[in-house]
Amino acid sequence: MYQAPRGTQDVLPEASSYWAYVEQEARGQALLGNYAEIRTPTFEATAVFQRTVGEGTDIVEKEMYTFLDKGGDSMTLRPEGTAAVVRAYLQHGMKQRPQPVKLYSLISTYRYDRPQKGRYRQFHQFNVEAIGEDDPMLDAEVAALHWRFCTALGLSGLSLQVNSMGDPVCRPRYLDGLRAYLRAHAAELCDDCRRRTEANPLRVLDCKNPPCQLVVQGAPRSADFLCAPCRAHFEQWQRYLRVVGIEPVLNARLVRGMDYYTRSVWEVWPPVHGSQSALGGGGRYDGLAEQLGGPPTPGVGFAAGIERLILALQEQRVAVPPAPAPRVFLAYQRVEDKEHIFHLAETLRAGGVSVDLAFGERKLGKQLAAADRSGAQLALILGEREIAAGTVTVKELRDGREQRTVPEAELADLLAAGGGVR
Ligand code: AMP
Repeated sequence: MYQAPRGTQDVLPEASSYWAYVEQEARGQALLGNYAEIRTPTFEATAVFQRTVGEGTDIVEKEMYTFLDKGGDSMTLRPEGTAAVVRAYLQHGMKQRPQPVKLYSLISTYRYDRPQKGRYRQFHQFNVEAIGEDDPMLDAEVAALHWRFCTALGLSGLSLQVNSMGDPVCRPRYLDGLRAYLRAHAAELCDDCRRRTEANPLRVLDCKNPPCQLVVQGAPRSADFLCAPCRAHFEQWQRYLRVVGIEPVLNARLVRGMDYYTRSVWEVWPPVHGSQSALGGGGRYDGLAEQLGGPPTPGVGFAAGIERLILALQEQRVAVPPAPAPRVFLAYQRVEDKEHIFHLAETLRAGGVSVDLAFGERKLGKQLAAADRSGAQLALILGEREIAAGTVTVKELRDGREQRTVPEAELADLLAAGGGVR
């Protein structure tokens, strides 16, 4: 028997109510901030991610699903959403539109990572980007959208971890300081981190090896190296957050896994935080458009991990609305009435009433048991007697189990008006 590939999941109907709940909240919150939907391809030219996410990052070094297509071009399944959205912004001249251009998408993403709880090879994200503006109020709007989305889902005990990565003016000074510190501790670092110290020292900060983490405890902090404009931006961002009742938690270790971030970075953490529990992360990426060959264009965004949010909802026992049941279940006595029954089912559906019915040749009693299991509000019974009289027996399946008989010709209007037994 074939199995779904390692690190991927089938979302079965019983779990899909979580997905519907989270996706509906995502769309609702995006619309409240006037973010419009964008859909980009599942794969892009490999360079789109290589240039932006960055050589030396785990994603580009180890995790990308990269393949040569039949034309010999290198393509990559998107490991994240931002680079593709900025590519689309540039390609379609969105700089000509009123700025910022505010976009959201619900996407699947692909990383060849070691699968475990909360870490998959195909996972899904609610991705939000606001491009073309460097106002810290925009960083606050985007982070507040991320926060409100998580709390509106019903999650509690969350924290908004924040840091600033600086910009091309102050970051080199910070990287020099960090590199000097890491060189002094080279003997305590893993081989990868010794290499990263020279190539991309920020990546040492999120190494998961305990000895490296110990070294990182004492490492210089990016927030201490900010130039005056970056410091002002960082402070103003946090003031905007506090104004709306969000208390940011300063986290000097927070660097995020992509190289394109400048200035603001954040993550939303659940109450108990581990290495794969972050519910989402975001930040500002003012240099990204240029890395893609475009003009200087600031931007800020976040990605929230749908699987992680669903795990958190289950852990916190947040009740989600159940998947809708059909309004009515049609039950019939005789096989020779099935054309009549099928016609009635389609007529009701065309009128906006959700209908299910039994297939094959099942006894009426079995059909009524199926009607009960379906969660339908009403059973519509068309036995020999009803068909002869042009009527339908309408039976309440939930409370009271009362029933009454109505002319079939009146059924569609009765149901459309929300009626049932009474
Ligand atoms: P990142 O930008 O890499 O921090 O990813 C943003 C969010 O996506 C993370 O905070 C997680 O919620 C989620 N995420 C990242 N990688 C995975 C993965 N391999 N499996 C499931 N969710 C993930």
